Amino acid sequence: MGKWATGIFTSIHGGLGAGLYAVKELGVSTVHLHTPTAEYRTPDRTAEIKEQFGQAGIEITVVFVGFEDDDYTTPEIVKDTVGLVPQDRRAHRLQETLEISDFARALGVDAVGMHLGFVPTDPTDADFAAVVDVTRQVCDRCAQNGQHFNLETGQETADELLAFIQAVERDNLAVNFDPANMILYNAGEPLEALDKVGEYVKSVHCKDASKTRKPGQPWYEDAPLGSGDVGIEDFLRKLNNLGYSGPLTIEREYSPDQAGDIKEALQLLENLRAKILGS
Ligand code: MG
Repeated sequence: MGKWATGIFTSIHGGLGAGLYAVKELGVSTVHLHTPTAEYRTPDRTAEIKEQFGQAGIEITVVFVGFEDDDYTTPEIVKDTVGLVPQDRRAHRLQETLEISDFARALGVDAVGMHLGFVPTDPTDADFAAVVDVTRQVCDRCAQNGQHFNLETGQETADELLAFIQAVERDNLAVNFDPANMILYNAGEPLEALDKVGEYVKSVHCKDASKTRKPGQPWYEDAPLGSGDVGIEDFLRKLNNLGYSGPLTIEREYSPDQAGDIKEALQLLENLRAKILGS
C-alpha cells in the first residue's frame, strides 16, 4: 500500500459509508470495516468476507467495533449508550469486543477501532479506573492478536484523551483521529488536538463538520469533505509532518447524496495528495 491510500468507512450491508459493491465502484483500495453483527462473524461467514474483499483487491485496514444498541441520536444519548463506558452494558460488550478482535484477526486485520464512549474525566473517579481496566483487557487481547487498538477521537478533549491513554499504559493503544468529531462533540479545535495526540495516530477518518447548528438541532452539522470547518488541507499537511503514511479513510454518514459526496471527497484527496506530496 502506497502512502495515503484512499479508503472509505464501510459496512457489509451499506449503512455506514458504503457497501462493498459501492466501494468497488469507487475504485478505492482500502476500507475501515464496521463490524457486522455476531451472526455474520461465524468462521464460514468470516472466511467469505475475507474472500470477497480479497477478490476485490480491497484491504481492510481497521475493523471498527459497534453494537446494535448504540444510539447516536444526541450527544447526551451517546453518553448513555455508546461504547464500553455505559455501566449497564459494559460486561457483555467487553466480551463482544474481544470476539471482534478475534474476528479481525481471522480477516488478517492488524487494528481494531472503537468509540470507547465518554471516558470519565476525573482520574480519581472509581469509574475511571474501571474503564481503564476494560480498555487494558481489550488492548491485551488485541496484542495477542497482533493488533493496535485505536480509540476514535472526539468525545473528549485531546488533553483528556492523552491522560486516559497514559493511564492505560499499553503500547498498542493508539488513536483513530477523526477531526470532524472534535467539532461535532465540541471537544476542541481539531488541528490543535492533532498536535497533542499526533504520536498516537495510527489511522484517520477524513470527515468534515461545520460549527453551525440550526435551532433545535442536537448536533453540529456533518459537512461534505472540504466544505466544513476542519481545514482538510492543513489537516493533511499536519499528518504529513507527523510522518503519517497510512490510509486516508473517508467517512460520510448522513447525507442525501452520500455517493456523490464520497466521489467528490476522493477527488479532493487525490488533488491534495498531489499538491502536498507531489505524487
Ligand atoms: Mg469517525
